[in-house]
Amino acid sequence: MDKSKDLEELRKETLKADLPLKENATNLVFGKGNPEAEIMFVGEGPGKNEDLQGLPFVGAAGKNLDGLLKKVGLSLDEIYVANILKYRPPENRDPNPSEIKAHTPWLLKQISVIKPKVICSLGNYATKFFLAEGNVNNMDKQEGITKVHGKVKMIKLDGVVIKLIPLFHPAAIIYNRSLIDAWEKDMEIVKEEISG
Ligand code: URA
Repeated sequence: MDKSKDLEELRKETLKADLPLKENATNLVFGKGNPEAEIMFVGEGPGKNEDLQGLPFVGAAGKNLDGLLKKVGLSLDEIYVANILKYRPPENRDPNPSEIKAHTPWLLKQISVIKPKVICSLGNYATKFFLAEGNVNNMDKQEGITKVHGKVKMIKLDGVVIKLIPLFHPAAIIYNRSLIDAWEKDMEIVKEEISG
């Protein structure tokens, strides 16, 4: 199976889909990285730079993510990066449940092509989506990132068991030294999980 080809097909299908937020966005922000990766990072949604370039995590949060990954010896060659939302919400506002419901089937399709062993959710929205095992109606019943970061959890997505490791969102830790320390500690867990 050629994952790159399948992902490209899926990107084209996603582009054709009539999704909320599409109308006001510049570009679809589908994903980047290695389609053969065993580890996938999932953020919340595109910001301004991501919308302009059509790629996830290329703005300030992306620079931070790159730096943090580099510190633990991971590069884009070894991971795949995507978001809950495929289009930017106006003024980067929080996504609402109906938007998450409409966009996440495309994320789940990406996951079913890539078949990662580990998913690292970045921040509250992605974490709650995966803890709720894709049931958006149950997202608000899940614990927040402050409680669950760095705690490995087995989840089931479309019948497939995947290891979830919730991490703080790289944008949240830009000015917060203690969160950077927590991120680095959590990344040690990620490293162990992917090497083991
Ligand atoms: N924040 C996210 O959650 N995703 C991006 O792609 C950029 C910033």
